[in-house]
Amino acid sequence: MQRRRFLAITLGAVAGAGIEFHCASVLAAINSKNSDVPMLMLNNGRKVPMVGLGTYSLKGKICIESVYNALKNGYRLIDTAHAYGNEQEVGAAVRKAVADGIAAREEITVVTKLYPNQYGNPVQAIEEGLAKLDIGWCDIMLLHHPGSNDIEAYRAMEKYVDSGRIRALGLSCFYIEELTAFLSKVRIKPVLVQNEIHPYYQDRDVVQFIQKQGIAVQAWYPLGGRGHQKELFSDPVLTEIAVRHGKSVAQIMIKWNVQNGVIVIPGSSNPMHQAENMDIFDFELTPADMKAIGALERREKHDWY
Ligand code: NAD
Repeated sequence: MQRRRFLAITLGAVAGAGIEFHCASVLAAINSKNSDVPMLMLNNGRKVPMVGLGTYSLKGKICIESVYNALKNGYRLIDTAHAYGNEQEVGAAVRKAVADGIAAREEITVVTKLYPNQYGNPVQAIEEGLAKLDIGWCDIMLLHHPGSNDIEAYRAMEKYVDSGRIRALGLSCFYIEELTAFLSKVRIKPVLVQNEIHPYYQDRDVVQFIQKQGIAVQAWYPLGGRGHQKELFSDPVLTEIAVRHGKSVAQIMIKWNVQNGVIVIPGSSNPMHQAENMDIFDFELTPADMKAIGALERREKHDWY
């Protein structure tokens, strides 16, 4: 089993000004081996890697192989959801990786999500998610979207945190208004909020608002989402930065989020892309690079939610 170095970036340091500087200095201290992905300290004292694997659209055998391969190559954070229809496959890959000695179960963070059409009967939905995963416990369970009965569903999940069958809770597609209304009504603070974030949809106000609550931000569509790669990957600003650092545009986009203290979960079944997406810890984007990428904001959401 590979020895993993646990580097904590505390949310206290992430929140507020100076985050880029703080993260840059922490990240500069590590080398580029896949097993050395830095960890972010969550508000419950547990740590998660800054780079994980998204599994939207991965199905069946391809999903099991992709997740297993990712774990074999150093990934320790896997994102799934009831809506992706692949919790069983993700669970099977995690069990196989643990059985093969690739990682201890405790080293792997599995995130899943309840969908709004499940909020009316949350206990049944939670039990179904846990049974499909079948990995002992769920590390982080999210509400996939705001929706009717979301508070009730979250309160049901809180009881599972009390019993230890879920270790932490989070939210997805929640923005300032929704979060402000939600946070005062729940007992256990979410450890993270998962939202769309890429250079063309940066949502800095929302990211900073969430981080200032001591809640981590996790980016979905960190590469712009399917169907948008062509435009982002040929963006002249991103391309110039990538060439100068000897990296790919995908790596520059991932690194930009990470240097903003944002966890990323790029999706891929391609082992080369999976490795590339983690190989971002041997260089630093300069303050000028971060500013140039910041200026690419278009408020261009690539999905409706
Ligand atoms: P993404 O932005 O991660 O892009 C994925 C696309 O980029 C795929 O086509 C993939 O083949 C390609 N790709 C990956 N690495 C590459 C590389 N190095 N070079 C070139 N191409 C590369 O989009 P996504 O996978 O849809 O989103 C990431 C994850 O976020 C999902 O898998 C899912 O887990 C999660 N997600 C969550 C929500 C939510 O509402 N919470 C919504 C969408 C996605």
